[in-house]
Amino acid sequence: MKNDCIFCAIAAGEIPSFKIYEDDLVLAYLDINPMSEGHALVIPKAHSQGLFDTPDEMLAALVQRVKAVAAHIVKTLGADGCNILQNNGEAAGQTVRHIHFHIIPRRAGDGLSFVSRKADMAALEKLAAKLKLA
Ligand code: 5GP
Ligand code: ZN
Repeated sequence: MKNDCIFCAIAAGEIPSFKIYEDDLVLAYLDINPMSEGHALVIPKAHSQGLFDTPDEMLAALVQRVKAVAAHIVKTLGADGCNILQNNGEAAGQTVRHIHFHIIPRRAGDGLSFVSRKADMAALEKLAAKLKLA
């Protein structure tokens, strides 16, 4: 755990989050500035910054969870598809230096322009309950 890292603090339960999936290695929760309804983040509990310093075995585990959580979100929300986004470095738009995969549900013709907006917290709490994956 890196003590100035907000996602390490979320993984440790020191900062609240709307969790939808958790196991020994990985945590998934709703983004508080979603680009679409159900926008979620999947992170390893162990800190690494991005793709290049994350061990291959962890990347393999992460992608497996991304696949399962994305399939669950798309199905539960009746979405038509999803984008998986993973930013590396400031120039690429990475604002949190703890590796994370975005799951962004899409609907046909939604015209999404990848702009995020602060979510209503009560709505996010309800959505997290709906999307909880055992
Ligand atoms: P990046 O631009 O680094 O790929 O994405 C970071 C994401 O983390 C952004 O979409 C942002 O909304 C989200 N984020 C930042 N701080 C928090 C937080 O405290 N809780 C949650 N749930 N998401 C956060
Ligand atoms: Zn971290």
